[in-house]
Amino acid sequence: MELGLHGKRTLVLGASRGLGAACAAALAREGATVIAAARSVDDTKAWIAREPADVAARLSAAKLDLAERASVDALADQLLPQGVDILVNNSGGPPPGAAAEIPLELWQQQFAAMAGHIFHLTGRLLPPMLERGWGRIITIASSGVEQPIPNLALSNGLRMAVLGWSKTLAAEVAKKGVTVNLVLPGRIHTDRVDQLDAAAAAKQGKTREEIAKASQATIPMARYGRPEELADVVAFLASTRASYITGSKIRVDGGLIRSL
Ligand code: NAD
Repeated sequence: MELGLHGKRTLVLGASRGLGAACAAALAREGATVIAAARSVDDTKAWIAREPADVAARLSAAKLDLAERASVDALADQLLPQGVDILVNNSGGPPPGAAAEIPLELWQQQFAAMAGHIFHLTGRLLPPMLERGWGRIITIASSGVEQPIPNLALSNGLRMAVLGWSKTLAAEVAKKGVTVNLVLPGRIHTDRVDQLDAAAAAKQGKTREEIAKASQATIPMARYGRPEELADVVAFLASTRASYITGSKIRVDGGLIRSL
């Protein structure tokens, strides 16, 4: 299937590793010109250098700290007035913790980095998409918006804000050729999943491998997903072929969420 991504100017956030890097790579392999933004430009350049030369030529690294408004505005200033055709909103995941134990300051900090600054950046990059009458806004959230994950209260709470924002925006811009969707990873094997498994292992006095095995046993496919499996869904949603999908949330979870 031709995805129509050749030459589409794309920005992927949180793209130095994990899901963001996989999305940036998948879009560049399909012909998009991709700016991969993250705190560490060196880490981003390192994975780009491992891509085949023709793909690497379509990828560039940009500096972005989603925790800092000034950094978000600096990136928007750099990209405007042309802006981008495709925006993939991805962020670092918040630390684990129980709902009753999270201090207000942490809620506020994480809201800014995972939600508020993404809303702000999207708002700044939206006008050129509306003028061109074409755009794609895809935000990576979590299966926790459909089934809250124990001990991830920050993630469960803040992603509901992202869900409400994305759905509202989708209706506002639908007539202008801009689609807005969420992708919900279940458990995709990245550094973050290893870190969460290690934290659970330390808490329960088990090994990380034991925790991972038990976790995978709860997934109908009996394995963690691969970052490329999520990235391919993002590439499709970004494509010209996904023109009638908006306001949706699409799980990539190997069947993990059992509800209808
Ligand atoms: P990861 O920790 O492997 O990668 C996160 C990326 O975000 C890295 O490139 C990191 O440098 C970047 N980042 C972190 N803080 C940043 C900041 N302040 N500014 C800019 N970039 C920043 O995580 P991942 O597994 O790739 O997950 C990506 C997102 O998806 C996270 O929000 C995570 O919580 C969410 N998620 C992941 C899974 C999964 O199974 N991997 C499941 C549900 C939700």
